[in-house]
Amino acid sequence: MDSLGQKPHAVCVPYPAQGHINPMLKLAKILHSRGFHITFVNNEYNHNRLLRSRGPAALDGLPSFRFETITDGLPLVDADATQDIPELCVSTERNSLQPFKELLHRLNNAGGGVPPVSCIVSDGAMFFTLDAAEELGVPEVLLWTASACGFLGYAQFERLVERGLAPFKDTSFLTNGELDAVLDWIPGMKGIRMKDIPSFIRTTDPNDLMFGYIQRLIRNSKRASAILFNSFDALEDDVFESLSPNFPPLYTLGPLQLLLDPIMAKDDETKSIGSSNLWIEDPHCLGWLDSYGPGSVVYVNFGSITVMTNDQLVEFAWGLANSEQPFLWIIRPDLVSGDSAVLPPEFLEETKGRGLLASWCNQEQVLAHPAIGGFLTHCGWNSTIESICNGVPLICWPFFAEQQTNCWYSCTKWGIGMEIDTNVRRSEVERQVRELMVGEVGKEMKRKAMEWKGLAQEAATSSSYINMDNLVTQNINP
Ligand code: UDP
Repeated sequence: MDSLGQKPHAVCVPYPAQGHINPMLKLAKILHSRGFHITFVNNEYNHNRLLRSRGPAALDGLPSFRFETITDGLPLVDADATQDIPELCVSTERNSLQPFKELLHRLNNAGGGVPPVSCIVSDGAMFFTLDAAEELGVPEVLLWTASACGFLGYAQFERLVERGLAPFKDTSFLTNGELDAVLDWIPGMKGIRMKDIPSFIRTTDPNDLMFGYIQRLIRNSKRASAILFNSFDALEDDVFESLSPNFPPLYTLGPLQLLLDPIMAKDDETKSIGSSNLWIEDPHCLGWLDSYGPGSVVYVNFGSITVMTNDQLVEFAWGLANSEQPFLWIIRPDLVSGDSAVLPPEFLEETKGRGLLASWCNQEQVLAHPAIGGFLTHCGWNSTIESICNGVPLICWPFFAEQQTNCWYSCTKWGIGMEIDTNVRRSEVERQVRELMVGEVGKEMKRKAMEWKGLAQEAATSSSYINMDNLVTQNINP
């Protein structure tokens, strides 16, 4: 409370994609439980999707937890898929500042128990909000919803340009071994190769949208009062050490879910705010898993953005079938680029009874189910940290952005992952699924994953918990 007895008011602005909204909502709930009034700002497109997938009551919030919208500047289409990422990044950066300032003005003049805005908690990718915070004279902290190692990877872009290593001269980089070059000059990333640097580096065009956007993102993040990570010290300590001298104070607050769990257990109000799933969850997944023994099912899910060709889908399908392991496979309606997924009828016949296909699930509940023994994933950061929270080892098929970096860390540093080649082959899927589920390498990966789970739980009651306290008292509570 301030001197007038008013609550602090945090305006939370996620980047408009599932993997960013989820952790921001968790942080917003934690801040709410610590006495903050919250305004949670979705773009109009996702606001409409949430209304559709979860019903109007889902966005009722509470008197002290309100949902608002701003435009991203793109035409408002009535669809149910992730928006085009480069287009969305650039359009939001160009078009959302003015509507955001207007929203802040409205909130500050709302009266009726809405306290004045006292801080902005924005996704690192929504850095346009920094101008509004500076104009209003309130602190802004950035929540980086991907891994810290990914952030460190992005932070190399300018240095790669200075060293003449990016953008690439021509497309021969794809085959001439340049991607295998070890970048031995990056502190905190010993042994990393060019191919493990976030994918937006792979361009020959100096004006490439994402290449430029990432460099602006990194430059602008230095203007924030603090940068927050959904990670924990023990997992990425070298990375934090490497980042610290060049950025504002860094706060490791993760895994956010483990900080939120005890709050949800005793606070019905926070619980009533609900989830942020943009797709409708298939209700059968958990019941189906109940009929399988501990650690016996492989869970396959490529997140909310990854797309693949139907040929790749078919390779995964036969790999899973031939591995003879039970599987739960989530196939989003828009997973196959430009088309709907077509699986061979023989595959469906052969895996009847030991494979469940669904279009969306509650992933955190699935990963927490004792039947899950491994996760074939695209290595999105939320998927990775959710898997770590549950001690589930990974087969990694990174798609884009910093997923390559997460994959490298999972496989070489944390000992919890094995990688499938981009050019996926059924024999390789079969071999790795078997190895993960019943092989010796899989056993060792499971042991490591359980070790990380223990450290994640420890962080949620020690380092990350203390950081949350410090963030609230030192940075965002006037
Ligand atoms: N998710 C889910 N159900 C699904 C697929 C994904 O609940 O069927 C959630 C998942 O738990 C995670 C987020 O969506 O929190 C995906 O984020 P991630 O960073 O893993 O990947 P992205 O979708 O951003 O590529």
